[in-house]
Amino acid sequence: MNAVVTPSSPDGPATELLAALARRLGAAHVLTDPDAMAGYLAEQRGLYRSRALAVVRPATPEEVAFVVTECRARRIGIVPQGGNTGLVGGSVANGEIILSLGRLNRIRELDPVNATITVEAGCVLKTVQEAADRAGRLFPLALAAEGSCQIGGNLATNAGGTNVLRYGNARDLVLGLEVVLADGRIWHGLSGLRKDNTGYDLKQLFLGSEVSLGIIYGAVLKLFRKPRSRATAFIGCASPHHALRLLERLQAGAGDALSGFEFMAGFALDIVLRHMPGVVRPLAAAHGGYVLAELTSPDPDADLAGRLEMLLAAALAEGVIEDAALGRSEAQNRAFWQLRESVPEAQKREGGSIKHDVSVPVSRVADFIEAASQACTERLPGIRVCAFGHFGDGNIHFNLSQPEGMDKAEFLGFWGEFNRLVHDIVAGMGGSMSAEHGIGLLKREELRRYKDPVALELMRTLKQALDPLNLLNPGKVLDPGGGPPG
Ligand SMILES: Cc1cc2nc3c(=O)[nH]c(=O)nc-3n(C[C@H](O)[C@H](O)[C@H](O)COP(=O)(O)OP(=O)(O)OC[C@H]3O[C@@H](n4cnc5c(N)ncnc54)[C@H](O)[C@@H]3O)c2cc1C
Repeated sequence: MNAVVTPSSPDGPATELLAALARRLGAAHVLTDPDAMAGYLAEQRGLYRSRALAVVRPATPEEVAFVVTECRARRIGIVPQGGNTGLVGGSVANGEIILSLGRLNRIRELDPVNATITVEAGCVLKTVQEAADRAGRLFPLALAAEGSCQIGGNLATNAGGTNVLRYGNARDLVLGLEVVLADGRIWHGLSGLRKDNTGYDLKQLFLGSEVSLGIIYGAVLKLFRKPRSRATAFIGCASPHHALRLLERLQAGAGDALSGFEFMAGFALDIVLRHMPGVVRPLAAAHGGYVLAELTSPDPDADLAGRLEMLLAAALAEGVIEDAALGRSEAQNRAFWQLRESVPEAQKREGGSIKHDVSVPVSRVADFIEAASQACTERLPGIRVCAFGHFGDGNIHFNLSQPEGMDKAEFLGFWGEFNRLVHDIVAGMGGSMSAEHGIGLLKREELRRYKDPVALELMRTLKQALDPLNLLNPGKVLDPGGGPPG
């Protein structure tokens, strides 16, 4: 693959590029001032230092295509950026331009009969949810970063979140796409069709590709009937195996109404209660693990609270769970979700953490948590396991907090070793070392180690075919390098 030119200082081709972009987009949308660029260069986890030739902010698809064509002519790389909330360094630049999609933020159409919404890539996820809601519909993609992340980023990373159990990942919510290719051509694939057997499903190449194959600037997304009733419970149980038994029972007893099944290890709730202001202990006693379960229905008269209460009472009587609190108001439901969504922030405040975003078949998720917890504790006694996440999808954020009193830098020095330990267990269970956050910079090494070699070859073939100059997000996903952050 040809190496892209990534000038570190604006001279020669870089100066020409910036001048051409400023003429077309306006100087106000070609940022080179360090203060103006600071927000775009920041990296969510503080693991990487980003440096960019400029931050470029087009407002139309034609302007995006223009930027690509101009960069291509000078072999200057492009790092598209949405809300910059990604957790694997995918929108970090290393001397390229950052292409910020935030100004492409129009909701173009909402078709209630076709149950679709057509949006531009820079729409903030929450804005799309709210537009659907105003039309009496649901756009179900939901994650804690929804107030900042953008649809383009969500689709490029095939985001997951808390509603996957019922509605699927981001890729399952897309009917059509518009994409600017690495050679500047525009693919008009903005179809709202639910059936179209006219060859390859090309949109799938771009969904979850983390930009390496094209820049998404428009999408047709599926809408669903809006939930009109909801029941939420916070549940204490002895172990992940008990949580798995509860999941089976709720799936059997509530069927499709089960839309959320989130898990928190005991330590995860402890640190939320310790560090987050205003949160309230949801259950009287401490438990080995906790489940946040939610039922929803478009039927306003569905007695979901009654059904959930009955299912939980039976689970309690049979020793599957130890205690449960049913949300009695929207405020209480929100408070339960706040506990779950506060875990990453609480973990940050607790000290150094080594993170894993993994998935295994749902039937193995409890085995995984127990086996990985034991292996990590044996390797470093005193380490604290902060496992939490989308248990119902088999997706666990298997995070590790430093032993009390240990030096943070010394603990982070174990990053690669714990990745190997945990990812080997995941691989042994037929799982994935990246469930929903993607590969970016952080997991390139792991991709090469765990991905089937033929699959890797096919991925390289596609990248070479669609982006032979390696202009789009160079250094990410398939490019060599990576390993634990420095
Ligand atoms: C508190 C918190 C909670 C989170 N929870 C979840 C969760 O539950 N589930 C989950 O999946 N993720 C979660 N994330 C991660 C993150 O929010 C998602 O990965 C999100 O989809 C990224 O969207 P973004 O707009 O911020 O993309 P960015 O971070 O800006 O970019 C991510 C990647 O997409 C590429 N990209 C961006 N826009 C485009 C485009 N228009 N076309 C092509 N490529 C593009 C970038 O180059 C980069 O490789 C969480 C993050 C935070 C901070």
